[in-house]
Amino acid sequence: MSGNSDATLRAAVIDLDAVRGNLHAIRSFVGRDVAPAPLVMAVVKANAYGHGAIAVALAAQDGGVDWLGVADIDEALELRSAGVTAPILAWLHGQDADFAAAVAAEVSLGISSLAQLRAAAGAARALQRVASVQLKLDTGLSRNGVAASEWAEVFAVAREAELAGEVRVDGLFSHLSNASPADDAAQCALFDQGIAAAEGAGLSPALLHIAATAAALSLPAARYSMVRIGIGIYGLSPWGDALPAGLELVPVMTLTARVAAVRRVLAGTAASYDYTWRATRDTTLVLVPLGYADGIPRQASGRASVSIGGATHPVIGRIAMDQFIVDVGDAEVHPGDEVVLFGDPARGVPSAESWADAAGTINYEIVTRIGHRVPRSAR
Ligand SMILES: *Cc1c(COP(=O)(O)O)cnc(C)c1O
Repeated sequence: MSGNSDATLRAAVIDLDAVRGNLHAIRSFVGRDVAPAPLVMAVVKANAYGHGAIAVALAAQDGGVDWLGVADIDEALELRSAGVTAPILAWLHGQDADFAAAVAAEVSLGISSLAQLRAAAGAARALQRVASVQLKLDTGLSRNGVAASEWAEVFAVAREAELAGEVRVDGLFSHLSNASPADDAAQCALFDQGIAAAEGAGLSPALLHIAATAAALSLPAARYSMVRIGIGIYGLSPWGDALPAGLELVPVMTLTARVAAVRRVLAGTAASYDYTWRATRDTTLVLVPLGYADGIPRQASGRASVSIGGATHPVIGRIAMDQFIVDVGDAEVHPGDEVVLFGDPARGVPSAESWADAAGTINYEIVTRIGHRVPRSAR
């Protein structure tokens, strides 16, 4: 990359080889010592955690992923329109969700209520197709999912709809709280009861899944027949920096910008809103054209660091909507030089996790919030 055109003012460089590599590494890791190995779903909701849904989904498909997961139907349809043919599950629906469009596009529906089950069956009937559904069971997270008190009724209605040729219950799933190992085990035990009850009602779902990245990597008993991997696909750890021994992942996103301005200032000079920073020595300030409108957390003001020319320098003063300032001391930095906010720490640049620490949040939020104004470019 060279020059300072708008296209390079800001860039999130997306390493699609790393997507495939992480998928492969996680598949091997979760399949060690178990036969058959669990299937792997790559979760590409929320624009693939900010990485670009279509590019990541196509890379995961190319890497042999078994399923793709998204929150809502519109996300699934966007992937289908882009030519993604892998199986897709969508699990979060509003009152007016377009189940007919989902059924027509062969998107499997996560079903969290009797009303949704009836809507899926109705859409299938109208289209004279069979709706693939996966019943989501609430096992303790208390978000969506069918409450245990309603399982019997939902399973019975699902079985009737199967016999009527309207739906096929391809899966049962749930989601963990990650509150503690004991809480996760209790949720798995309740999930087991749900599986038994569904089978008792005549259903035979092949896809049984409860684990997202954290449980997939740390709780073998939670792997069932599929694991749903979000953050791990993007090369980040659900626990911040740590990963289990024997698993290496490569961060997929490198967030960069080009230096917009360089200014030499005297000791005593203040900078950015509210003058939260003042130079204690003569120094050089560098202007970076990224701000909270681009998802750079304002809470990281005065706490995060960036890499310029291989050296790490502190972010000083308030992070503004479009820009922030870096104190580079006496380093020689020029307009147009590349600034790396975060990427693969193995390459000596800050990690998304370091920004999460600086902002008091989790790495998930750092990458997912990178905004529309930052072009994603595949590497
Ligand atoms: C987002 C999400 C995931 C992925 O979680 P990670 O911790 O990123 O692996 C899995 N399952 C459901 C239901 C989700 O909403």
